[in-house]
Amino acid sequence: MKINVLTLFPDMFTPLQTSMLGRGLEDKKWNLNLVNFRDFTTDVHHHVDDTPYGGGAGMVLQIMPIKKALNSLSSTGKIIITAPQGKTFNEKMAQEWAKEDELTFICGHYEGFDQRVYDLADETVSIGDYVLTGGELPTMSMIDATVRLIPGILGNAASPVEESFSHGLLEYPQYTRPADYEGQKVPDVLMSGNHQKIDEWRHYQALKATYLHRPDMLEGRKFTSEEKKMLAQIKAELD
Ligand code: SAM
Repeated sequence: MKINVLTLFPDMFTPLQTSMLGRGLEDKKWNLNLVNFRDFTTDVHHHVDDTPYGGGAGMVLQIMPIKKALNSLSSTGKIIITAPQGKTFNEKMAQEWAKEDELTFICGHYEGFDQRVYDLADETVSIGDYVLTGGELPTMSMIDATVRLIPGILGNAASPVEESFSHGLLEYPQYTRPADYEGQKVPDVLMSGNHQKIDEWRHYQALKATYLHRPDMLEGRKFTSEEKKMLAQIKAELD
């Protein structure tokens, strides 16, 4: 996959070039093309922004350098604009995007974009109901969540399949050595070697964690008969 990012701060993107994503870059499993749209300005001061028509605080990003930067790319794939007013990014979107050959992100700054910039994009996406200084951190979060789903990026190929949100549930509790830490013991079932029992326990715990912490995720879920029984048990356990 090739990912283009239009940004005024390409130096901010080093976190994506470390750890497993960094190895993926070295192994050419994905490619990161950082484009500074300030390079596409034509005035002597390289302005990318201007005051808003109608007045008001702050500066607004102009369409011209962004459009020229996009036009400089031989291809873009899906174009994604980062903005608080966009639809909220989630794991399902990451799963869809991970199947694409190419993606292009546009990072805002200052007061955001001239409204006409939005017409250049396929999607406007937010990472949550809060306002950040720029689109770089949202873009890095979305790239990380997407690229880690590309086969071969994570060491253990099975790991993204078992994680929170992948099956519409939060993840079950995980433990590692020691089996007993100052009296806090690992559940016996996990050391039983009985994989069917372990799978059942994990399924139950994932359902319980979701019911407790993110009940909204269970709305509209088609529960299996096994899950219905588990849910009744969870409710009884918690009462
Ligand atoms: N004036 C804008 C508003 O009220 O919606 C906020 C602009 S914000 C200071 C500057 C840039 O940061 C935005 O153009 C966008 O690219 C990025 N940004 C800020 N918060 C974001 C969020 N929650 N999700 C995605 N991008 C965000």
